[in-house]
Amino acid sequence: MNLKKLIRNVPNFPKEGIIFRDITTILQSPEGLKWAIESMEKSLEGLEFDYIIGPESRGFIFGVPLAYNLGKGFIPVRKEGKLPYTTKSKAYDLEYGTATIEVHTDAFTPGQKVVIVDDLLATGGTSKAIIDLVEEMGGEVVKLVYLIELDFLQGRKVLGDYNVTSLINYD
Ligand code: IMP
Repeated sequence: MNLKKLIRNVPNFPKEGIIFRDITTILQSPEGLKWAIESMEKSLEGLEFDYIIGPESRGFIFGVPLAYNLGKGFIPVRKEGKLPYTTKSKAYDLEYGTATIEVHTDAFTPGQKVVIVDDLLATGGTSKAIIDLVEEMGGEVVKLVYLIELDFLQGRKVLGDYNVTSLINYD
């Protein structure tokens, strides 16, 4: 299936010079959505883990059906101030300024294994922040799965030796 055809390219969003890869057009397509979830699922075949963990908001869209289909739980990572219970936070650098993500302190127990799922790997900053959060809480990141990877931003370098799968690449 040619998923690239289902991705809408939006020039100059969110700012001049950026081509935004819009996945809402994949979500709209029953075949595209099925392909995306099933392909992500295949990349996890045979892997032992306890949870899928994903950042708001598009990490939720793909992470929850994956977790559901695989009989696992889902852990939401949210922007600062959104989670109601006690949280652990991590600040990370954006192109301009910083962002902070949070996870509930009781989301998993030390020694448990998690898979990070998001729609897109760009610079790797978001995923690296999640890896740091998980590891500081005693968890283990066993894999990262993305629908899309922007190869030219070299996010994989930031992720080092972690096991990374992406389904669609732009170079
Ligand atoms: P990174 O932290 O630079 O790897 O950026 C990844 C995060 O930014 C992901 O959570 C994506 O949802 C979002 N993102 C960055 N660029 C795009 C894009 O072109 N389309 C959709 N999401 C994007």
